Amino acid sequence: MIINNSLDEVKKRENALSIIKNKVESEGRSSLFDLTGLSGGFIASSSELSLLETYVGPAMFEEELQSVGREHMGGEKVIPLNRTSSGILAAVLTLVSKDSNVVHYLAKLPAHPSIPRSCKLVGANYFETDVFEEFSIPENTSLVVITGSTMDHKVIDEDEFKKVIEMAHEKGIPVMVDDASGARLRTVVFNQAKACDLGADIAITSTDKLMPGPRGGLMAGREDLIDNIKVKVNQFGLEAQPPAVLAMLNGIKNFKPDNLLNSFERKDELFNLLNARFNNFEKTPTGVMISPENLAKEISVENNLSDDDLAFVFSFILLNDYGIITIPPVSMPGASATIRFDLSTTDAFKLDLNDLNKKIESSFEKLQDVATNEEKCREIVFNS
Ligand SMILES: *Cc1c(COP(=O)(O)O)cnc(C)c1O
Repeated sequence: MIINNSLDEVKKRENALSIIKNKVESEGRSSLFDLTGLSGGFIASSSELSLLETYVGPAMFEEELQSVGREHMGGEKVIPLNRTSSGILAAVLTLVSKDSNVVHYLAKLPAHPSIPRSCKLVGANYFETDVFEEFSIPENTSLVVITGSTMDHKVIDEDEFKKVIEMAHEKGIPVMVDDASGARLRTVVFNQAKACDLGADIAITSTDKLMPGPRGGLMAGREDLIDNIKVKVNQFGLEAQPPAVLAMLNGIKNFKPDNLLNSFERKDELFNLLNARFNNFEKTPTGVMISPENLAKEISVENNLSDDDLAFVFSFILLNDYGIITIPPVSMPGASATIRFDLSTTDAFKLDLNDLNKKIESSFEKLQDVATNEEKCREIVFNS
């Protein structure tokens, strides 16, 4: 095994960032193709930048974020957060008491780790399922969670979404929606309603997922809950700082639903090209992906690597040899090791799909060559 724990994940991320830096310095930014779907961005004019002071910044940009954010997310009030995970933590700290139950329904496991981790921190009992028939709300439940679109972009069925909200509200329990990518994916590509419009009490989205914004979280919902959550957010320093707030505001304003819809069409072309060589790629709404388990099925050489290790080595080869950035090398501890090629971001529009297909194939051949040599794999992932 190469990646065994969170520290290993921090180390592989450090290596990935240093590979990225070296490429930018030696060959320029254009040598990189960020296909994570979290390409981030910082859109700001120089007059806006000059207002980024500790108190003037929030006065100017948080005010406007209220209206722009509510339009994007629905709800009565929004709060900008350092990350989606920070918002989830703050909501759990506010709404969930020790020994109470938190139940979570999502289209496909696993949930984002911030949800179980936050529950553990407050001493709550956490249950999750992706089987709708098995979802129920026990006595002494303090919070019901729904994920709108999972880390691997599996989108919830809207009828199930509504039913879970109904079940929770019959018992007077608040509903939090983790709509990190879903706030855009569900609404634009699947024509679903905003989580708050479906009755969610709070919903949170990630402002760098499928939109040109910074890493950050934007939570929207019922004003009374948002106000209480905001207290915790400020007490623990979980709020977004003025530069991120400005970039969120401009990211939302510059969000182009057409990019998502275009990638929805292009993904079929890439999928068909890949299928000439592979059997286990899957389509996502805006690209293609291969899970660690499916990647392992493609490998025809004996090796001692775990499925996740194979995914990390493969994604590091793509990065090192072709400048293709996917999530596994750069992700935070606990994130999914699925390799997703998202076609909705600016870099993806610069790529010829035949060319991308060839790069994926030749990276895979290299993976097969090195998979038998654990030392070599370790070197690729950690540069040591
Ligand atoms: C990305 C993601 C998160 C966490 O976002 P961060 O900005 O990394 O905190 C939470 N839930 C889901 C479903 C996600 O995809």
